[in-house]
Amino acid sequence: MFMKIIIVVSKGVGQVYCEQCNKGFKNKNSLSCHKRFDCGKTNRFICSWCSYSTKRFHTLKRHCTKVHKCPIDMNLIMTMETH
Ligand SMILES: [Zn+2]
Ligand SMILES: [Zn+2]
Repeated sequence: MFMKIIIVVSKGVGQVYCEQCNKGFKNKNSLSCHKRFDCGKTNRFICSWCSYSTKRFHTLKRHCTKVHKCPIDMNLIMTMETH
């Protein structure tokens, strides 16, 4: 009971939800950004060093720098769209 109330409160008032996937966002800007770049999209950017994949280029860039300590090599990026 108590936990349930906490969850509802922490979700916050005024949060917007994507009608497609039900994901919650803080504001309309984040939601429209999600709709444009995230929602329903398959992971396009795949890391060449491991099986990590993401929808956003900058996320892959960050992943490579953080995990592999190596800046991203544009030539190694594959996209799933080309099959
Ligand atoms: Zn969505
Ligand atoms: Zn990787």
